[in-house]
Amino acid sequence: PIKAESRDLNFYYNGGHKALKGITMPLYEKKITALIGPSGCGKSTFLRCFNRMHDLYPGNRYDGQIIMHPDNTNVLANGVDPIEVRMRISMVFQKPNPFPKSIYENVAYGLRVRGENNKRVVDDKVEEALKGAALWDEVKNRLHDLAFNLSGGQQQRLCIARALATDPEIMLFDEPTSALDPIATANIEELMSELRNKLTILVVTHNMQQAARVSDYTAYMYLGELIEYGDTDMIFTRP
Ligand code: ADP
Ligand code: ADP
Repeated sequence: PIKAESRDLNFYYNGGHKALKGITMPLYEKKITALIGPSGCGKSTFLRCFNRMHDLYPGNRYDGQIIMHPDNTNVLANGVDPIEVRMRISMVFQKPNPFPKSIYENVAYGLRVRGENNKRVVDDKVEEALKGAALWDEVKNRLHDLAFNLSGGQQQRLCIARALATDPEIMLFDEPTSALDPIATANIEELMSELRNKLTILVVTHNMQQAARVSDYTAYMYLGELIEYGDTDMIFTRP
C-alpha cells in the first residue's frame, strides 16, 4: 500500500525561484525510496515539504498536496499543525545535529514536546528508541553524558533514536551518511534496512551505489522535475 504521496506539488522560494515543478510521487509503506539527482535539482526542497520545514522561513510558497494514508491527512493543509506533522514524519539530517544536552534528553526531546514527563514512560521510550537505533549497548552506562562526546557515527544514530522516540510513520533522511566514514556509513545503511520493517523511508542521497544498495524504489529529479521513478532494480539495470 501507499503510505504517502505528493500530488502536483509546486514550490517557490522567497523571490520566486520555482524549485519543484508538479511533483507527483508515492511512498510505499515499509519501503525505502531513494531520491537522487544532481546538486540543486530540488531533492532537499522536496524532503522539507514533508515535515513542513519550509514554514520556518517566511516568503516560501507552495501548492499541491502531500497526502498521508490511511487517514488522508494533507500534510500541507493550512489547518495542520507542523509540530504534529514532525512527530509523524521525522527528519534525520546530513550532519548529525544533537542538541547540547545529555544523550537521554536528546532522545526524550519529542516526548517532552508532547508533554510526557512521567519518568517511567520516558525511561522506557528512551531505551526502546536507542535500541531501535542500535545505540543502546554503547550508551546505556552513560545516558547522562553530553551528546557531543559521542563519535560522529554514534551522534547520527542518536539523531535517529531522537526521531524514533515519537513513533513516526515516515522517516526522512537527507544525505544521512555523507559526513560519515565508511564503517559508520555501513551501520546507518543497515539500520535503515532494519527500520523498514516498521516504517516508511525517504532518503536523499547523491551516492548512486547507496541508492542501489538500500532502496526499493528510486526517484530521479532534474531541474525541479521528477524525471524517472520505478523499482530500484529496474532503474539500475536499465542499459
Ligand atoms: P538539492 O537538494 O537537489 O541539491 P535544493 O532543494 O537544495 O537541491 O535546491 C533546489 C533549488 O532551489 C536550487 O536551484 C537552489 O539553489 C534553490 N534553493 C535552495 N534553497 C534555497 C533558498 N533558501 N532560497 C532560494 N533558493 C533556494
Ligand atoms: P547553507 O548555506 O549552509 O545551506 P543556510 O544557513 O543558508 O545554510 O540555511 C540552513 C538550511 O536551511 C539550508 O539547508 C537551507 O537549504 C535551509 N534554508 C535556508 N533558507 C531557507 C528558506 N528560505 N526556505 C527553506 N529552507 C531554507
